[in-house]
Amino acid sequence: MTALSLCGAALLAFYPPPSTFARLLPADNPWVRDGRFSVPVCNGVQCKLCPFECFLPEGARGRCKVRVNYGGKIKTLVYSKAVSVHLDPIEKKPVYHLYPGSLIYSLASPGCNLRCKACQNWEISQIYPEQADKTTLVPERLDLKTDSASGRVYGELKQKEVATLSPEEIVSCALATRSRAIAYTYSEPAVFYEYMYDTARLARKKGLKNVMVSAGYINREPLEELLEYMDVVKIDLKGFDERFYGEYVGGGLERVKDTLRTLKKNGGLFEIVNLVVPGLNDGKESIRAMTAWIRKDLGADVPLFFSRFSPNYRLASIAATPVETLTRARDEALKQGLKYVYVGNVPGHAGENTYCPVCGRILVRRYGYAVLENRLTPAGGRCPHDGTRIPGIW
Ligand code: SF4
Repeated sequence: MTALSLCGAALLAFYPPPSTFARLLPADNPWVRDGRFSVPVCNGVQCKLCPFECFLPEGARGRCKVRVNYGGKIKTLVYSKAVSVHLDPIEKKPVYHLYPGSLIYSLASPGCNLRCKACQNWEISQIYPEQADKTTLVPERLDLKTDSASGRVYGELKQKEVATLSPEEIVSCALATRSRAIAYTYSEPAVFYEYMYDTARLARKKGLKNVMVSAGYINREPLEELLEYMDVVKIDLKGFDERFYGEYVGGGLERVKDTLRTLKKNGGLFEIVNLVVPGLNDGKESIRAMTAWIRKDLGADVPLFFSRFSPNYRLASIAATPVETLTRARDEALKQGLKYVYVGNVPGHAGENTYCPVCGRILVRRYGYAVLENRLTPAGGRCPHDGTRIPGIW
């Protein structure tokens, strides 16, 4: 991940207003492309990509820092500008119901429309694209080698430094690194929509799956169009009251619930993760209300994760989530009738495993990001004991 230097952090505080950037951008900047989802309004354009629907006079930039009115048209400033690219275990997303134990080619561009005080990737999500490193190290290919002495097979990863990473290059690198899917993740992929959409469409043609890891703050029309190419959507449901969303996220809960309802209606796979922050969103009533709503409006089959918070960013003074809090939240979700409830960031917790909701046996045994055992039937993803079909792509 790109780290901001102290100098960069200082620049962040004293940078000129966003409208100045647009005038500095050369017309042939390789990262500037036409943006979608906007309407002309008097003296400017209105972006319709996310619920903020920013009004942008000529030269102004949106709240996400990566969309600008440039010559009366909305432009994205981050097409092919990947700032964080890694080959991850899919469990790290976390996504548990897609190819357990596989590798996923994961990337981000700068920018975000939200202002989460617990952001784990603020060094890339809260910067202007101009502040990102000029080049990024990206995984290029993964070769399997055999150690002649021990006979052990290991992977040798080759990487390369790039200034731009096109959708074609992403797909090619994903295939060469033995990835089974591509994840649009780390920052907020909704705000690099055009880059993600083109990559996902190409990836689908080449047999790769697509995963969007998002806070779900996106308007319905762009979301529905994107879902044609997304195999799994992971939504970070950050809490369950508007006050928390307003104060600690910088958005509104109701719009995220709209996104989740759209995902349910669409019929594709989606999972939910909730980062449990002590004293802020871990109240019993809040967890009960959230899990009851998921059960009622989204169904019992939606995988739900309670992830452990670690002191970070603007919440550095809050202690890590006690494991008992996560266990209690999981118990409540199971009590509400949810079938696949996980605990994240606590290696060794029983809530890392996937259980058959009928016989209770472990189907996928995990430790941290490692899959120790996968007992699902290879065809159809069923429990080998009673044949229960587990939702997912296995
Ligand atoms: S995507 Fe960016 S510019 Fe568009 S409405 Fe959202 S915050 Fe504003």
